[in-house]
Amino acid sequence: MKLSSPRGTADIYGEDIDYRNFIINTARKIFEIFNYSEIITPAFEYTQVFSRSIGEGTDIVQKEMYTFMDRKGRSLTLRPEGTASIVRAVIENKIYSENMPLKLFYIGNMFRYERPQKGRMREFWQLGIESIGTDNPVIDAEVIWILNSFFKKLGFKKLILLVNSMGCSRCREKFLAEFKKYIKPELGKLCSDCQNRFEKNPLRVFDCKKNSCRSILDSSPEVSSYLCSECKENFKEVLECLKILKIKYRTDKNLVRGFDYYTKTIFEIISEDLYSAQNALGGGGRYDNLINQLGGPELPATGFAVGIDRTMMLMKQLNLKFTKLARKSRVYLIAMNKNCQIYSLDILKYLREMEVICDINFNNKNLKKEIKWAKDNNYDFIIIIGEDEINSGSLTIKDIKKFKQYKVDWKNQKDKIIEIIGANDYD
Ligand code: AMP
Repeated sequence: MKLSSPRGTADIYGEDIDYRNFIINTARKIFEIFNYSEIITPAFEYTQVFSRSIGEGTDIVQKEMYTFMDRKGRSLTLRPEGTASIVRAVIENKIYSENMPLKLFYIGNMFRYERPQKGRMREFWQLGIESIGTDNPVIDAEVIWILNSFFKKLGFKKLILLVNSMGCSRCREKFLAEFKKYIKPELGKLCSDCQNRFEKNPLRVFDCKKNSCRSILDSSPEVSSYLCSECKENFKEVLECLKILKIKYRTDKNLVRGFDYYTKTIFEIISEDLYSAQNALGGGGRYDNLINQLGGPELPATGFAVGIDRTMMLMKQLNLKFTKLARKSRVYLIAMNKNCQIYSLDILKYLREMEVICDINFNNKNLKKEIKWAKDNNYDFIIIIGEDEINSGSLTIKDIKKFKQYKVDWKNQKDKIIEIIGANDYD
């Protein structure tokens, strides 16, 4: 059997690694500026962590989880998202402090058994933040501000930020009663999935992408029209903060995110340049009841998750350029034969002790090919070592970007090598 990666997974290498590192490093820098620290949780959890948080009636829990029994018959699930695991970890390790909010960020792979297509995978990567312990609407705005800064820093110009409020559980109850009244007579026109959703968890009808269902939803009651005065005021304050921060947004009264735990302000960042059904790059919102629901104290919280793969896909599609992070010069040694290679070990040892990024040819090809390879692979300097170099004890360092060369006495002028290479650090 020819081996291949499982459907919906991808190998990431070459140029994609540069994009990915740029995305992750940009996020890390912004998270640090906003005072977030990293948390790493397991890639799998007891199944209940997800079923009790994301919601039994959601598509994710119903059909998309990779769930399996371990050898002792315990039900485990590969994480389909980050928030539930982080909430579990915060409760279990009691990571509360006097000075809330607790600001955490994560980067990790997620797993959902979905029908793979462009921008939708079964294993994908997300980065995200969680801000736990305050219901201050300023933090809602701050979380959106971070998301906005992140995409701006990556070079995106035309993204659309959608915001809405789901209200608290009281508003939700009022809305659901009206929504059920509206949908009941239309039930026969909904797809069979939605008819099921309606029975188990009516709000999930909003997740449907089918045009026939969407057109029925277009004139349905909107959750934001059922906000109590407190939730209305809260949402108004979030929007005011966004205005002060000059963050452009669009309120979308039909925005209802795919997990059950959301309350109050929710948001999504979409791109019209992405294939329409998979146009969200990231999203999130407040989840004031989840921590308590999973056995922790009453801690209101909010956060977001961004799809790294989808962000990378759009960056490439839009041809967004990025500057590589400051890097040190790279040196490639070319040894002309086995004997020269052994002689070069001493040079390699010195360079690596001095933390110079360097490598050597392990397979002897011809010199021309080796030099071309070094140029193609982004080396800055080459040092050729042949019998002449061994006999004379001197080295020639060629700067292949600036077309300069330097002669150095290897035994007596070692520091000079570092001077030449170090003076040429590329920013
Ligand atoms: P969600 O956790 O569903 O709100 O998703 C947050 C972000 O993760 C989305 O906006 C996407 O960018 C990304 N994402 C979600 N599901 C997938 C998937 N199956 N494949 C690739 N990216 C995904």
